Amino acid sequence: MKRDYFKFCPRCGEKLSWRQENHEDPSVQQCNSCGFTFYDNPITATEAYIVRNGKLLMVRRGQHPRKGFLDVPGGFMDGFEQPRAGIVREVQEELNCTFTPKALIGAYGDHYFWKDKDYAVTILSFAGTLKGAASSNHEITTLEWVPLNKIPPQLAFAHMHDSIRDLKRYLRTK
Ligand SMILES: [Zn+2]
Repeated sequence: MKRDYFKFCPRCGEKLSWRQENHEDPSVQQCNSCGFTFYDNPITATEAYIVRNGKLLMVRRGQHPRKGFLDVPGGFMDGFEQPRAGIVREVQEELNCTFTPKALIGAYGDHYFWKDKDYAVTILSFAGTLKGAASSNHEITTLEWVPLNKIPPQLAFAHMHDSIRDLKRYLRTK
C-alpha cells in the first residue's frame, strides 16, 4: 500500500514531505509551508454483536471493501459522537431497528483497505439486543443468523474472530 497516499496539505495545498517522528513510528507527513502534520492515526468504528438462540446476526456486505463477505452491523463513528450512540445509529441505518448495547466486549485493531490505502482502524465491539424485525438497506445483501459454533473462517475483517471469541466469553459469564 502506498504510504504517500495523501500528497498535498489539506490546509494550504502545498506538497507534503516526510519527517522522522520517533523510533516506533518511522515517519509522519508534514507541510513545510504552514506546519501542518498529518498523523495517520486509527479511525474508530463500532460493531454490534446480537445473539439469539445461539446464533449471531451477521450481514453479507453489499459494498466494497470486502463485498460479499460476512460482517456484523456497524461502521465508522461521526465526529464527536459517543461510541454507544454511534453503534445505535449504525444499526438503525443498516437494519432499521433499535439496538441496545449491553456490554463492550472488546477493542481491536484492524485494516480497512479503501481505494489503494490501508487505513488503521480501532473497532469497539458491543454485545446487545435488538428490538423489532431487522431489514437490510443498500449496504447489505442479506441478513443471516449464523450458529456461534459454525462461524466460517473467512470473515469480512480479521479481528472479528477475536470479537467472537470474547463475545462467547461474555455470554458464558452473563
Ligand atoms: Zn500546509
